[in-house]
Amino acid sequence: MRTASGAGTLHRQWRRFRRALRLPHLRALLSRWVRVWLPAWFAAVLIAGAGVTVAAITDLTAPPRSAATQQVVRHPAPLAQYDRNFGAAPQIRLNTPAQNRLVAVQRHYQLAGEQQIIAETALKSYAAERRRALRQTAARTQHAQEKIFAEREQRRIRAMVARELAERLRREQAAAEAEAARQRAAGAEPPADAAAAGATASLSNENGTTQVGTVDGATPPGQDGIPFGRVVGGVMPVASGTIGARFGAYGFWSSYHTGVDFRAGFGEPVHAVAAGVVTYAGNSGDWAGNHVAIRHADGVSTMYSHLSDIEVSPGQPVAAGQEIGRVGQTGRAFGPHLHFEVYPPGIRPGDVYRAVDPLPWLNSIGVHPR
Ligand SMILES: [Zn+2]
Repeated sequence: MRTASGAGTLHRQWRRFRRALRLPHLRALLSRWVRVWLPAWFAAVLIAGAGVTVAAITDLTAPPRSAATQQVVRHPAPLAQYDRNFGAAPQIRLNTPAQNRLVAVQRHYQLAGEQQIIAETALKSYAAERRRALRQTAARTQHAQEKIFAEREQRRIRAMVARELAERLRREQAAAEAEAARQRAAGAEPPADAAAAGATASLSNENGTTQVGTVDGATPPGQDGIPFGRVVGGVMPVASGTIGARFGAYGFWSSYHTGVDFRAGFGEPVHAVAAGVVTYAGNSGDWAGNHVAIRHADGVSTMYSHLSDIEVSPGQPVAAGQEIGRVGQTGRAFGPHLHFEVYPPGIRPGDVYRAVDPLPWLNSIGVHPR
C-alpha cells in the first residue's frame, strides 16, 4: 500500500498540478495581463514615439539662428566678452550632421534659383540690346539704300538734262547755219536773233508731241486765248486734299522733292486747279509717267504726274475743277498718288530744277491742302 499509497500521492500531486494548470485563475491572470498590461505598454510606446517625432520636426523646422548666435558659434572666443556685456552666454546648440546637410541642400537650391533668375535677366536684356542694334542697323541700311537710289536717280536725271541741252544746242546751230545759208543765198544779211528764233522753233516740237506755244513758256501769258490776269477760285486737284510728301522733302524719288504728293486712291479723278490751256498731255517715257501740264492766266504752269488715265489733249482749254485724268502710278511712283508741280511763268513744265513750292501759289488761288 505504501507503494500504492506513494503512487497514489504522486498521482494525486500530478492531478493537483494538472488541475492547477487548468486553473481558471491562471487563465484569468493571463486574460487580465492581456486586457490591462498589453494596452498599457502599447500606449506607452505610442506616446514615446510621438514625443520623438514632435521633437524631430520642431528641431528641423526651427527658424534660423539669430546673427548673434551664429557669430558666437563661429567665433567662440568672445564668449567671455558676451558674458560681461549681456550676462550668461546664450544656449549654443549645434546642428546634427543630417540637419547641416539639409540646410546645405536648401541653400544650394536657393542659390541655384537665384543664379537662374540672374542668368535669365541677363539673357533678356542681351536679347533686347541685340534687337535694338539690329533695328538700328536695318534702319541705317535702308537709309543708305534710299540715298544710293536717290543719288543714282539724280545722276540719271542730270545726264538726261545734259543730253537734252546738247541736242537742243545742236539743233539751234543747225537751224542757225541753215538760216545763214538761206540768207546768203537770198543775198541778205542774217537777222541778229536767228539763233533765238531757231531755239523757239525747235523747242516747240521737242518731245515729238503737239504743244501749245513753246514748251519753255516763251509765249507771253495772255497770247494763247486765255486772258492774262490774276487766277482766283482755285480747286483742290484731288478729293482728299491731303499732302503725303512736301516740296523739298527727302524721299525715294530724289534727295530733293520737286513738287507735293497728294494722297489719293488709284483711279480717283484729277481736277485742273484753275482754268487754263493744256500745254502737254502724254507720256515722255520718264519719271513723270502719264502727265498733263496746264498754263494758267497768270503764266504759271501746273503739272499733274503719274496718271493712270489722261482725259484732255494739248491745246484744249480747261475750266477750274474740270476732270483732266485719273490718279495712277505710271513713271517713277511707289503706289498711286498725285505728284503735283508748279512752274513760274516762262519756265517749261518738266524743267524740274526750276519748279517752285506749289503751296504759296495754291494758297494764293484759295486752295489750302492739309
Ligand atoms: Zn512726288
